[in-house]
Amino acid sequence: MSMTKEAHRAAMGHEFLDRGLNEVDPEIAEAIQTETIRQNDTLELIASENHVSRAVLTAMGSVFTNKYAEGYPGKRYYGGCGPTDIVENIAIERAKRLFGAEHANVQPHSGSQANMSVYFAMLKPGDTIMGMDLSHGGHLTHGHPLSYSGRDFKVVAYHVRKDDELIDYDEMEQLALEHKPRMIICGASAYSRIIDFKRIREIADRSGSLMMADIAHIAGLVVTGNHPSPVPHADFVTTTTHKTLRGPRSGLILCKEQYAKDLDRAVFPGVQGGPLVHIIAAKAVAFNEALTPEFKEYQTQIVRNAKALAQAVADTGFRIVSGGTDNHVFMTDVFSKGITGKDAQNILEASNITVNKNTIPFDTQKPMVASGVRIGTPAVTTRGLREPEMKKIAQLIARVLDAKGDAAAAIEVKKGVKELCDQFPIYH
Ligand SMILES: *Cc1c(COP(=O)(O)O)cnc(C)c1O
Repeated sequence: MSMTKEAHRAAMGHEFLDRGLNEVDPEIAEAIQTETIRQNDTLELIASENHVSRAVLTAMGSVFTNKYAEGYPGKRYYGGCGPTDIVENIAIERAKRLFGAEHANVQPHSGSQANMSVYFAMLKPGDTIMGMDLSHGGHLTHGHPLSYSGRDFKVVAYHVRKDDELIDYDEMEQLALEHKPRMIICGASAYSRIIDFKRIREIADRSGSLMMADIAHIAGLVVTGNHPSPVPHADFVTTTTHKTLRGPRSGLILCKEQYAKDLDRAVFPGVQGGPLVHIIAAKAVAFNEALTPEFKEYQTQIVRNAKALAQAVADTGFRIVSGGTDNHVFMTDVFSKGITGKDAQNILEASNITVNKNTIPFDTQKPMVASGVRIGTPAVTTRGLREPEMKKIAQLIARVLDAKGDAAAAIEVKKGVKELCDQFPIYH
């Protein structure tokens, strides 16, 4: 009696390895299909989101997810790391070239863990750190009480000025000289203007502080010269790789050579265990894409689109925080027309336009309600929309918000969104 190879595998219970997702798990397969359709039919204006290439998706879905590789290239705690070392070395080299950095660690699983690793490397519990106030545009991991960064450190926050809503560097300097923080953290999640990294370095030098620049949002702009780079100034630069950089959902840390050893030890074994090798492979692919002239055009168009959209939204009567934008994002004060951020987000979502509610500086609403929505152009620029479409988007937003989301307006705007999306499909 002889068994076919297939029958043998079935008898051994191994045939599941080769079965497709539709067959193995129709519920999840269907949710993925539904999400694909949602992304295709949605104008994605969440500033921190993007649409990655099929090449990045393929690397993320690769067999590297099976691999354990604690340690670093050439110094692993596991066998079989040959191909993994190739991938991680390529990712490191590309990251260094892309940012002009002395040292890169490509293992952080996320932006938050990148930041945690830098703190773990350089700070002790009880040290003072200085970061931008969350409600003025900073990030949770820059010292907010609900985050690890606000629990173990003494936190001093700097702000934007009330009159022009720009970072108050004079206040930053005065606070730095008064509190002598061990580290000054700059970079933001909701700030639409150029950040003066050189000035912050000068402040850090005067107060004897380390400087960390978190460019999670603007990394793509930085590598293409659309925003000044912090790399020459900051001791550490952290970023996500999935926002303007348009790679997998993950993190990256760059630093001066003098901190390389301490940093690598902080990422592993300090904060993380095994690296996500499939995600590192996808980061390498994204870095390669980011080194092309097309990526530079893409980033330049993001900024053009943001300026055009901010102007067009302002033309419909909404106040724009700080009066406009220099980067990929702007804050719209929807409460300037009597709508809360929360309501605006829901009304827009019902017409397939996604944004997120966001507090604006000196907000009078609670964070879960907020007076603003944050609007960004990285994702719509990826799918090919340009200035003429930005005007159309602003009109759609104003139409449905001015109508407070009434049914007729919602249907009309949803139709307009669908027409735009059909003209610019994402994954064919
Ligand atoms: C998005 C963001 C992060 C965190 O990234 P996660 O990958 O979500 O952990 C950190 N810092 C800033 C400034 C961000 O905008």
